[in-house]
This record gives sequence, structure tokens and C-alpha cells, in this order.
Amino acid sequence: MIAEAAVIVPFTGAGISTECGIPDFRSPGGLWARNRPIPFDEFVASQEARDESWRRRFAMETTFAAASPGRGHRALASLYRAGKVPGIVTQNIDNLHQASGFADDHVIELHGNTTYARCIGCRQIYDLGWVKQHFQDSGHAPDCVTCEEPVKTATVSFGQAMPEDAMRRAAEFAQQCDLFLAIGSSLVVWPAAGFPLMAKNAGARLVIINNEPTEQDDMADLVIRHDIGDTLGPFVGN
Ligand code: NAD
Repeated sequence: MIAEAAVIVPFTGAGISTECGIPDFRSPGGLWARNRPIPFDEFVASQEARDESWRRRFAMETTFAAASPGRGHRALASLYRAGKVPGIVTQNIDNLHQASGFADDHVIELHGNTTYARCIGCRQIYDLGWVKQHFQDSGHAPDCVTCEEPVKTATVSFGQAMPEDAMRRAAEFAQQCDLFLAIGSSLVVWPAAGFPLMAKNAGARLVIINNEPTEQDDMADLVIRHDIGDTLGPFVGN
């Protein structure tokens, strides 16, 4: 299918990064088993929720900082360099597709990026070092120096609006490919989980690569219920 396709769009979830040491959400031992997610309205309303949210982020820092692209990331980057993949749609927030060689502009991040922070008001960008220093000095999560709204990782929390530009570009990619690869996602987080269906309805072949069954397996042209690194490893090249 990869050989036959002219335009391939990969759509990735947390499963592509587990071999890089970053736990996913829903596997046994995943992040949800340990921490209930903090919804956006709670983050906005409560200093305690913001402090807890940043404590959790700093606790993950060694994991995120140590992670480098796995076989899945590198295989997709090889197809990108070969001109088969115009861009990638990801639910991941770990920056590993960029680290594997995709240009920033060709990574459509549906749920943002956890490797930097933003003011939720004026959108000013902050680096994590600044946030950490402030947290250590004051004992609390910081507010924006310009507009005094809270500073949050540049991710999309439950209850927070989806980024319009990323949603629009992801839809264009889904509707313009002839092969759509859904890789390492439980396909239960909406609206992101709507893109495989959108691609299929627009005429693409759909392949799902995931260890566990998903609710969309029935409409896929091929389901590979197997390890992502093992499955995509042979496509790592140049
Ligand atoms: P998910 O945890 O709901 O699903 C991950 C799926 O990947 C699971 O079904 C699991 O069986 C499968 N999987 C895990 N390792 C695998 C492997 N090596 N081979 C094959 N399959 C494997 O993740 P999701 O669907 O991406 O949705 C969760 C949300 O969590 C996303 O929106 C994302 O923002 C966030 N998240 C991101 C990261 C990250 O950036 N790495 C990590 C955790 C959570």
C-alpha cells in the first residue's frame, strides 16, 4: 500500500512514543492510571490546580528531555524525505516528529506541545526554564508578565478549544491523501478521532496500526495489531 500510494498522511497517537520511554494514556500503567487529567476550567479557576499541573509537568521532565525519536518516528521521517508524506497529523505533544526531521510547519499538532509554555490570555510564549525558576522562587505557578493571565504548557487540555488552524489543515490533509495511517492511537479522543473516518470517506485507504483493538477497526482496509516499532522499522531509511 505504501508503494502504491502517492500521498500518505500519518496520524499518530501516544503509542508511537512508548518505545521512547514516554507512557501513553490508556495502556495499563499509562498516565491515566496515575493521574486524573486536570480540565481546562479547573486550571483557569484554581491556583492549586495550576500548581499541581506544573508539578506533574516537572515530574515528567526527565522523561520528555531524554526521549529521542523511535523507529516509528524515523520510518515516517524517511517517507517524508522521500516525498511520499506531505505532513503529519499528531495528537502527541512530545515534539518527537520535529526531532525526527519533519519541518515544524509540516507537523500538525492537534493537542499542542508540552516542550514550551504559553500565556492562555495573550498567547506569549515562555520557555519551561523560566516557569520552573519562577515556581521554585515563589512556590507557585506563574502568571504572564504582560497580561497576568496564567501560563500553561502549550498543550490542549480537556475542555479547552481545539486550535482552529491545526484542525483545518488536518482536515485538508485527511481529504487529500490516498493512504491514511492511524498509528498508536486508541481513537477515543474526539474530535481528533474523526480524521481517520474523514480520510476514508474522502476515498483514502485506511490502515490502523495499534496493539489494542479500536472502535474504527471495522472500517479500515488493514488492521495491524502489532508493535509499531517492529511494524514500521523496515521503512527506516536514508
Ligand atoms: P492512548 O493512550 O489513548 O492510546 C495509545 C494506544 O497506543 C493504545 O491503544 C495502546 O494499545 C497503543 N500502543 C502503545 N504502545 C504501542 C506500541 N509500541 N505498538 C503498538 N501500539 C501501541 O493515546 P492517544 O490515542 O494518543 O490519546 C491520548 C491523548 O494523550 C492524546 O491526545 C495526546 O495528546 C496525549 N498523550 C500524548 C503523549 C505523547 O505526546 N507522547 C503521551 C501520553 C498522552
